[in-house]
Amino acid sequence: MIIRGHHLLCMLGFKGLGYDEEFIKNMDKIVKKLKNDGDVFIKLVDNVDNICEQCPNNFSGVCKNEHHKDSIKEMDDAVLESIHIKPGESMKYSEIMANIKLFMTEDIMNGICRNCNWKEYGYCVDGLKNLR
Ligand code: SF4
Repeated sequence: MIIRGHHLLCMLGFKGLGYDEEFIKNMDKIVKKLKNDGDVFIKLVDNVDNICEQCPNNFSGVCKNEHHKDSIKEMDDAVLESIHIKPGESMKYSEIMANIKLFMTEDIMNGICRNCNWKEYGYCVDGLKNLR
């Protein structure tokens, strides 16, 4: 499976919201699969991933989400750097989660996600808190 850095945080707080029905169905499937099987190997990237696959903002493999003020690639890189993983690395989902628990903090997350439209719901930060 391929997952971009910032989606690791989105997945923590996923509560069935998303851009459209197809997007939600796909993300729900991915989140459930990873929740049930920490042995799944993930390649971490800073571009489109398996969640973007069904996104209406994905145009030929490029994210054209105009509501995002920040560079999404920079958000991916910032998340991965914070949890000590390099773009292109592959590892088990359970190992990634262990790094998130160890290195990701609410402050770091609030900084990286400061301009995200979904932030106001508070779901992602709640997801991080629930890991502890
Ligand atoms: S908005 Fe962009 S980064 Fe987010 S899922 Fe869609 S294509 Fe991927």
